[in-house]
Amino acid sequence: MLFFVEEHVKIFIGEQKKIKKVKMIKYCSKCKFDKDVTEFYLKKGRTGLSGYSSSCKDCVKISKHKYYENNKDILCNKSKE
Ligand SMILES: [Zn+2]
Repeated sequence: MLFFVEEHVKIFIGEQKKIKKVKMIKYCSKCKFDKDVTEFYLKKGRTGLSGYSSSCKDCVKISKHKYYENNKDILCNKSKE
């Protein structure tokens, strides 16, 4: 009986680990989608979910592109000087 309980606990822990792995999903504050954490950049020197950026890779790319588009004139003028 005791053995059975231990087995049950083992299976339960195993399944919890499985669930934890599957549920590595993060909410992107920019596009409002739940995405896999692999879709997010991990900040340097940080580990775990809190180390991931708040917006996904796609949104970071878009915002970087937008920043360039908005500041193209400023950036070009600066490089000329
Ligand atoms: Zn996003």
